[in-house]
Amino acid sequence: MSTSRRPLIAGNWKMNGLKKDAKQLASQLAKRMINNKKLAFDMVVCPPTPLLGLVVETLKGSGVKMGSQDSHQATSGAHTGDSSPQLLKNIGCAYAIVGHSERRTDHGEDDKCVKAKAESAIEAGMVAIICIGETLKQRKSGRAISTNRKQLLGSLPEGASAKNTVIAYEPVWAIGTGEVATPAQAQEIHAAIRAELVKAIGAKEASKMRILYGGSMKPSNAKELIALPDVDGGLIGGASLKAPDFWAIAEAAS
Ligand code: PEP
Repeated sequence: MSTSRRPLIAGNWKMNGLKKDAKQLASQLAKRMINNKKLAFDMVVCPPTPLLGLVVETLKGSGVKMGSQDSHQATSGAHTGDSSPQLLKNIGCAYAIVGHSERRTDHGEDDKCVKAKAESAIEAGMVAIICIGETLKQRKSGRAISTNRKQLLGSLPEGASAKNTVIAYEPVWAIGTGEVATPAQAQEIHAAIRAELVKAIGAKEASKMRILYGGSMKPSNAKELIALPDVDGGLIGGASLKAPDFWAIAEAAS
């Protein structure tokens, strides 16, 4: 973590929880945030789409931001089941996760699609959190860096800046598995991502852009990971569903 970049702690609730769970979790985080205004991190939670309205009301005035777990590339139209970036922004999303590995796998989203989604989300006024990451097979065959480089360059929106884009490095083998990248593995990839960003968007923007680590981050490993020079926070799945755990990760970043 560099002192020049404000850590971002992002919770991906995935397809979990009912109304009462979302309300409870959001209100616990809102209360903690209100009582700890001086802590130096940004926090965002990304609930399931049907719960966005409830969560935004619950978070009101707390400083905890809300994001979507996906955002369609089109502004409107015949896309059953999807949500436009304009609607997501309108309902209160400040961020949109795009290209999560579960969407890349479950919905066949490739880099071109992720790039289009990121560009539309930014156009609508949200910050795009772009997920990239290698599989275990790619890592074992020595292709971890090249895979991330390719995904990054293929998914990076035109006009990407530190203000409108966040990168999340999420090794697929670490998501929801309890396996976590070692500090050396995480720093190696984060540094490679930043080096690639320098070439793509220039040294100044690259030095300001936040790169999150995601993959079985929890209170017991967060401090060590977030302390790494090129790790600027976390994208957290399982541990974001319990307010004390998610809050403890945020505290590790401040
Ligand atoms: C994620 O879904 O982005 C994630 C990192 O999940 P988990 O923290 O559960 O591994």
